[in-house]
Formats: sequence, structure tokens, C-alpha cells
Amino acid sequence: MTVLGILGGGQLGRMLALAAAPLGVRCRVLEPGSDPPAAVAAEVVRAEYSDPAGLDRLAAGVDAVTFEFENVPAAAVARLAEHGPVCPGELALATAQDRGAEKALFNRLGVPIPETIEVATAADVAQALARVGCPAVLKTRRLGYDGKGQQVIRRPAEAAAAWASLGGVPAVVEAFVPFDRELSILAVRGREGATRFYPLVENHHRDGILRLSIAPAPGWTLELQQQAEAIAQHVLDSLNYVGVLAIELFQVGDTLLANEMAPRVHNSGHWTIEGAVTSQFENHVRAVLGWPLGDTIVSRPTAMLNLIGTVPPSESILAVSGAHLHLYGKTVRAGRKLGHVTVCADSAEELKHRCRQLQDLLEA
Ligand code: AMP
Repeated sequence: MTVLGILGGGQLGRMLALAAAPLGVRCRVLEPGSDPPAAVAAEVVRAEYSDPAGLDRLAAGVDAVTFEFENVPAAAVARLAEHGPVCPGELALATAQDRGAEKALFNRLGVPIPETIEVATAADVAQALARVGCPAVLKTRRLGYDGKGQQVIRRPAEAAAAWASLGGVPAVVEAFVPFDRELSILAVRGREGATRFYPLVENHHRDGILRLSIAPAPGWTLELQQQAEAIAQHVLDSLNYVGVLAIELFQVGDTLLANEMAPRVHNSGHWTIEGAVTSQFENHVRAVLGWPLGDTIVSRPTAMLNLIGTVPPSESILAVSGAHLHLYGKTVRAGRKLGHVTVCADSAEELKHRCRQLQDLLEA
């Protein structure tokens, strides 16, 4: 029996475990909370992520260990690595945990990004604004997610307040990009370096949280796809990466700028469960176990809508043609990702219509 260890038992762990089961792979998750979403499909080791005994129980006898989130303590990664392969590796995690390191990597690889300056004091912020101009975005180097840990600065006079509101921690100041739209690329790299890419996806956020992904991105072109794949390929190879990697991008005219990367399966790839030949979850499992990667071709135009804070009655969602419901088994809380709906259609027009039906239900 092949066993995969996963740090974190949230919805990503749940979907990884659900994808692993048909491959004959058992998953074991390490999770400090009770009754985590992954418990439906995985054995749960209940312990803190920093607990050496818990880490040892997670990793005992597993074929590989992976993560459903990036903010894993370095000591935990080192401990797990004593037992066997840890994917993606320490370098990928360390880079993605620190926006400064991530931006430095993009710059080193020649990947276009918004002009970015590292800051450590309120005076640094003022100086950086003089360079990049206003508006700008102040982002903490660590622990930012779903739009948290960042603040748009519209006028230089707002700099001190923005710095204080983020807690005066090491940060970056980034030029504000008047982007046309947000896209993401998901890529997967196997242990031997084989790489596959999913098509570019268009993403819509509200209040910093992803609401809707459309795959392939409307107006998809080979030129855009090639730009995105080149960016992802550079990052994957430079980190000797194994597993699924997501890179969030801004499109400005015909150019793509990298915003950030996630060294794991990603919300903007949930559509792949029904919309691609092989889901991101299955491909991540295949990659980390050293198995051949699956096809990343889109089966049909597909969209993914997140269920945030509330969930409409399941019957109303399931009544929409082409809709698939994924609930994560979490208790309801404002702003919480409780599930998602994937909807497929035979044409982009039909997809738009079905999305509208679902959006009406979500907003009702
Ligand atoms: P992030 O946490 O870096 O992914 O940022 C969350 C969201 O804030 C992004 O999805 C964008 O909508 C917006 N954002 C982040 N950085 C910038 C930027 N430099 N210019 C304009 N919008 C941004």
C-alpha cells in the first residue's frame, strides 16, 4: 500500500486524499484542529505542526510527504525530510514563504514583475513610494493570504498609517498595476523533471478572495500561454520543484507580470476535477510519488465559483445543468471558504449562462 503524508487537513488535503484513493494511495494528514475536512478520506494525526512526535507519526512509513499550505515551519520540513522525500522541497517552501525572496527569484530569472522594493521601516516605505509612485501596495513579506497582510497606499501621506496597520513588520512596496485582468497558470513537475501545464485561467477576486475562475481564460491565445509557461518553467526548474505549482499573473496588454506563487495545489485549479483530463490533485499525487504525470488538457469549457461565508441549498445548485457541488464539511463562518461549484458546458456562451444562474443563487 502506498501512503502519502500531508501537512494540513483542510479542503486541499481533503481533495488530495479524494484524488489519491482511486490510485490505491492512502493519505495521512497532520492537523491540529478537530474533525478537519480531510478526515472524510484520510487518517488524521492530531498534533501541532511543530510537534516533533506528531511529525514523526505523520511521516512513519509514508512514501512521500507534501503540504496543503506553504507556511510550514522550516524545522518541521527538516524533521520530515529525515523520513523520506518532502515535496516540494525546502527551497520552494522557503522562497514562497517570503515575498522578498519570491520577488528576488522572479527578478533573477528575468520574470517580469511589478517594481518592488523591500522595506523594514516607515522611512523605507516613504522612500520606496518616491521610487515606485502612488498608488502602490504595501505587503508583508510573510503570512499574507487572500488579500490579508496588504494595504493599498493611494497618497504618500497614507504611508505611515499603512505601515502601522500592518504591524510594522518587514514588507515590500510594490507598484500598483493597472492590470486588464488576473490570470493564473498551474504547472506540475515530476521527480524526473517532466513538466505539464494547464491552460491559463481567468480569475475574479472580491475583497481579496478568489470568487470565480474561468478555464480556459476567455480570449486565450497561444502567445499568452507560452509566456506563462516560460515563467512557470523557469521557476520550476530553478527550484528543482516536484508537484503542482500555481503562479498568479497580471495581464497588461499583451504582457504578463508575475504577482505571486503558491507551492501547492491552488484554488484557481479546482476546476480541473471535472474540467481537465487529470485534476491538479491527482497530478500532484502522481508527481510527489514519482509516477507519470497525467494529461492536463481541458475537457470542456469550465468555471469554478467559490462558496464563501454561506452555502445556498444544495438542491438549487445541483439543479443547474453541468454543475458539480463540492462542500468541505466546515462550520459556517463569514468570509470562510466553505466549498465550491464547478460548472462545465459545451460552449463559452452556455458556460456564461450557467455561471450567471449560479451567481444569482450565490447572491440570493
Ligand atoms: P496577493 O495577495 O499578492 O495575491 O494580492 C491579492 C490581490 O490584490 C490580487 O489578486 C490583486 O487583485 C490585488 N493586487 C495585489 N498586488 C497588486 C498590485 N501590485 N497592483 C494591483 N493590484 C494588486
